[in-house]
Amino acid sequence: MICHTLAGTGPIYDWVKKHRLHHKYFGTELDPYNPNKGFFFSHVSGFCLDLSEAQEEALKSIDVSDLEEDKIVMFQKRFYWYMFVVMTLLLPINAPAEYWGESLMNAVGIAGFVRFSIVLHSSLLIHSATRLLGLAPGEKYPSDTNLVFIMTKTYWISYHYLAPWDYQTGEYGKYGDDCPTLFIKMCEALGLASDLKTTDSKLVRSALVKSVDEKNQFLPVYMNCMQNKKNLKNISLDLQNFSSFILLLLK
Ligand SMILES: [Zn+2]
Repeated sequence: MICHTLAGTGPIYDWVKKHRLHHKYFGTELDPYNPNKGFFFSHVSGFCLDLSEAQEEALKSIDVSDLEEDKIVMFQKRFYWYMFVVMTLLLPINAPAEYWGESLMNAVGIAGFVRFSIVLHSSLLIHSATRLLGLAPGEKYPSDTNLVFIMTKTYWISYHYLAPWDYQTGEYGKYGDDCPTLFIKMCEALGLASDLKTTDSKLVRSALVKSVDEKNQFLPVYMNCMQNKKNLKNISLDLQNFSSFILLLLK
């Protein structure tokens, strides 16, 4: 909750509620960060603009009962703007000026504007990364560009929308070894997260290969593979999203 407040993206309650709306209506007019409207819209405009009447109506159908039962989330929601001013604006500027003698100009510029901009835009990439790093149907990413060392276009962003319940969110390198996954595992070890659900990329890939080789539909093959995995329980798939994702992969 403290880290989230430092990011300055509004209360966890509002962020999660709108993100659930974003997932439910991804890429439609009801999606507040609709990536089909371009990178700038999904990155900045969607975050800054008020919701339309239709979106407000759709927001009412989003279940946030789990958040309302969470005392920390509700505490932050109630006192967010006081916490934001003190923790996000004043403390980071005050610390370098008071404790190691930075000038006020440096403290405001670096610890204030630069830090806040970097953190905020990193957070906003959650909505716009699909425009920047996602692959369009049939698109092949040219591997002979220098950019490949900075960022790689990938299908794994589509995978996040396909299986948002999967706590292993790694888009780069070995699936499951990334920072968000590590953070969630640490939270689990501390008792702050439980009932983690996942699948593994080998399973997805082997089911893909099998379904193509045997000219089967991907979904039944995948479900069959999943049922044989003992540690996978209670996984509900959004079948429509899943099928369209797989069609995207097979194009
Ligand atoms: Zn998401």
